Amino acid sequence: MIIAANLKTNLTRKETKKYINEVDAYITSCNSSQEVLVFPAMSSLDTYKSSVVVGAQNAYPTDNGAFTGEIGLTHLNEFDIKTILIGHSERRHILGETQEELVKKFNYFKELGFKIVYCVGEPLEKREAGKDVMMEYISTQYEGIDTQYENLIIAYEPVWAIGTGLTPTLDDIKDIHKELKDKSSAPLLYGGSVKVANAKEVLSIENVDGVLVGSAALCAEDFCKMIEFA
Ligand code: 13P
Repeated sequence: MIIAANLKTNLTRKETKKYINEVDAYITSCNSSQEVLVFPAMSSLDTYKSSVVVGAQNAYPTDNGAFTGEIGLTHLNEFDIKTILIGHSERRHILGETQEELVKKFNYFKELGFKIVYCVGEPLEKREAGKDVMMEYISTQYEGIDTQYENLIIAYEPVWAIGTGLTPTLDDIKDIHKELKDKSSAPLLYGGSVKVANAKEVLSIENVDGVLVGSAALCAEDFCKMIEFA
């Protein structure tokens, strides 16, 4: 299983260091063989522990150059970062990243052999419009993406379930994961209001290969419990 924490714009460098130390201590103590990924804020990308894969929540598809506010490959290389999150709904919807831009980013980091966690998921109005509309919308998020890329992980994160406490039913997750597995055999994570109280059930669903956790992962103890459930 793959258990991933997206810390978003949370935790200071000091807090992140403590967090990753705690997660590392847990993994080491129980000899866990789960794949654990942590995406901290950019300012904490140097927080290294061998048991935890540290990834970038974002980067610009360039070595370096005139891209104010962005970091590029040179900066990721400084910390030996080889994992990146692409297509998160907050980047699509709050920061306005288009599918075209995401494809550029995807191809750039794919060429470099990065592990890519690529996020897809529908907003509420698409879900409410019925399954066909919803699947058609999600299909557009696969456009231009090499679904056979060997270092690809896909995360299905319904936009309306992120940070809201709402989740699809277990049957809905099962159903959509089955459809998404037909598009790509890459490991498929579920994300959106995963917490200690529901992680065990979510992880037991067919075609769920792990979870991508936001708010509930900010507490190292809770995140470790989810690793334990895996
Ligand atoms: P929450 O777990 O806070 O709903 O966030 C999920 C998420 O966006 C992970 O990338």
